[in-house]
Amino acid sequence: MSHRFSAVRNHKTLILRVSPRDIDQDKIRVAAEIIRNGGLVVFPTETVYGLGANALNPNAVKRIFIVKGRPIDNPLIVHVAKIEWLYRYVEYVPKEARILAEKFWPGPLTFVLKKKDMIPDVVTAGLDTVAIRMPSHNVALALISSANTPIAAPSANKSGRPSPTRVEHVIEDLDGEVDCIIDSGETLIGIESTVLDLTEDPPIILRPGYITKEMIEDALGKEVIYLSYSDRPKSPGMKYRHYAPRAKLYLVTGNESKIKQKIKELIHEFEGEKIAVVVTEENRDDYGVYTCVIGSRMNPLEIARNLFDTLRTLDKKGFTTIIFEGLEEKGLAYAIMNRLRKAATKIIEA
Ligand code: AMP
Ligand code: MG
Repeated sequence: MSHRFSAVRNHKTLILRVSPRDIDQDKIRVAAEIIRNGGLVVFPTETVYGLGANALNPNAVKRIFIVKGRPIDNPLIVHVAKIEWLYRYVEYVPKEARILAEKFWPGPLTFVLKKKDMIPDVVTAGLDTVAIRMPSHNVALALISSANTPIAAPSANKSGRPSPTRVEHVIEDLDGEVDCIIDSGETLIGIESTVLDLTEDPPIILRPGYITKEMIEDALGKEVIYLSYSDRPKSPGMKYRHYAPRAKLYLVTGNESKIKQKIKELIHEFEGEKIAVVVTEENRDDYGVYTCVIGSRMNPLEIARNLFDTLRTLDKKGFTTIIFEGLEEKGLAYAIMNRLRKAATKIIEA
């Protein structure tokens, strides 16, 4: 299945500014009514902005795929407002799901579990499992509660583009194509949720995120495994290129001193092109050409929060080649490197 629905751009978008610290319930009711009527609402989560529709309305969900240009074989995450809602939409809640929901919900951890029939096939791309999570962002929770229905939502970007962490990114990609955008400022974490397949034993991390392998293992008292980059995708949608800037992106991996040496060689090789080198604070003075500091190696959360904005900003500034200084793949940096590996035109092992 590689068919995509064709795109439309024909109506105006209502933009509602809602502060997470002082939620305007009238505005939330307006957005919730749009969801209930089968419309599309972009809303903030703690990870990235989501493009939401009523998960129980197949026609509304179909519009998500049309507007994003998302391949229909890439399933969506269903967002709920309460832990108890888990029991409404999945066949069976294993012990591991109960333990992890207790510990990490609301939060950036998604479970893949056997779905009930009431979840339409378009949401799960025909799979018999559903991805489900309870976000911790106050505005997301208020919207889902007020709509009183689960909300299916992928990231609110055009398919393949970097995920949106600020409302400007959403407007760039989707203005005029969705019914409503809720603007609540910058998102906190900046990369998408961890996706954990609990239909397998040991459980499999399908997509790494802020909730790390070690955190999950500590909570469960047993080992979980990563889906390796060479494994067959668990959901067909995982095979597509993601998060990519328009510029060519070269990701340099390996140990820090070898990375620095390799990047200097690449700068020489690409002489004459409009190059940006994305570096960590610690190495900011080491390269000489245009360097863009993404954050400190001591603070991976800062790097996660800046990641997608940096890629979009470098595109806007007209850079044609981006060289990215790789990080050691542990903890949250493992998830950051996962996004970069998928976005990269080429991965260079230094
Ligand atoms: P996003 O578009 O960022 O929300 O991505 C959702 C992620 O969850 C994608 O990587 C999907 O492939 C994955 N996903 C959603 N539903 C399932 C499922 N039922 N089984 C496996 N992966 C899923
Ligand atoms: Mg996405």
